[in-house]
Amino acid sequence: MYRGRFAPSPTGELHMGSLLAAVASYLEARSRGGEWLVRMEDLDPPRMMAGAAGRILRVLEAYGFAWDGEVKYQSLRGPAYELALERLRDRDLLYPCSCTRKEVASIARAGIDGPVYPGTCRNGLRPGQAPRAWRLRVSAEPIRYSDVIQGEQQQRLDEQVGDFVLRRADGLFAYQLAVVVDDADQGVTHVVRGADLLDSTPRQIYLQKCLGLPILEYGHIPVLVNAAGEKLSKQTLALPLQAGEAAPDLWRALKYLGQNPPAELGNADLDLLWKWALLNWRLDCVPRQRSVWIED
Ligand code: GLU
Repeated sequence: MYRGRFAPSPTGELHMGSLLAAVASYLEARSRGGEWLVRMEDLDPPRMMAGAAGRILRVLEAYGFAWDGEVKYQSLRGPAYELALERLRDRDLLYPCSCTRKEVASIARAGIDGPVYPGTCRNGLRPGQAPRAWRLRVSAEPIRYSDVIQGEQQQRLDEQVGDFVLRRADGLFAYQLAVVVDDADQGVTHVVRGADLLDSTPRQIYLQKCLGLPILEYGHIPVLVNAAGEKLSKQTLALPLQAGEAAPDLWRALKYLGQNPPAELGNADLDLLWKWALLNWRLDCVPRQRSVWIED
């Protein structure tokens, strides 16, 4: 049983970098006879772009992707996230925190993904302080896993991250919580996504353990970076995918993913290219790197 997924955030249009994650997760799922889901990670209303979710789905269709089941939206999943928090609270793994971002930044040292929370509120709020966010207690036990693309990984959450936020001061649920709850509820078994999330994976595995959920298998493909070494994104003005460019874009995506598509398929039609890709897909050919340069 294999169930993969693609989980875009509708904060903007899909671009070549997002296409790589869609193509890799799709081909790995389909070539193993598995299912492939699409989930909209529209968790953070101020960052969403109006109409982007619909446009993303239309572009995926135009590029020849076919997903199983209904598209799920994180914006409708609040009660499930609340339930997970409740379970963590029952296990005394969750605690309220009154620290502002500024307070944390002023005393914390830098970790793998921002400041390492120094544990100020771990043993209770200071007198007179009101709770703002909710944090998960991490442990000193190293989290180890074998990434199917990037190899053996290890992280000490207490040293690299600290107790991390699951519900933010503005009431929104954190990505780390939502992704773990949704992957489990949707029966996802394998995650293939961009290496920008490699450092988040130990947090997700730890959360799976805390919630008694199955531990998933992970593979992180390289992210595309521009000449300045920046990840392609809306901020770096990555060009949106265009339906008319589907076949050449798919060819380029396969190339970045180390699949060596034959040059003569560079002008092939989309169906033929997908057929070739499904027959020839090899996860072990994906570069074992965190990033690859985009070519003009
Ligand atoms: N929504 C995330 C993104 O667009 C991906 C999350 C995931 O694949 O776990 O970067």
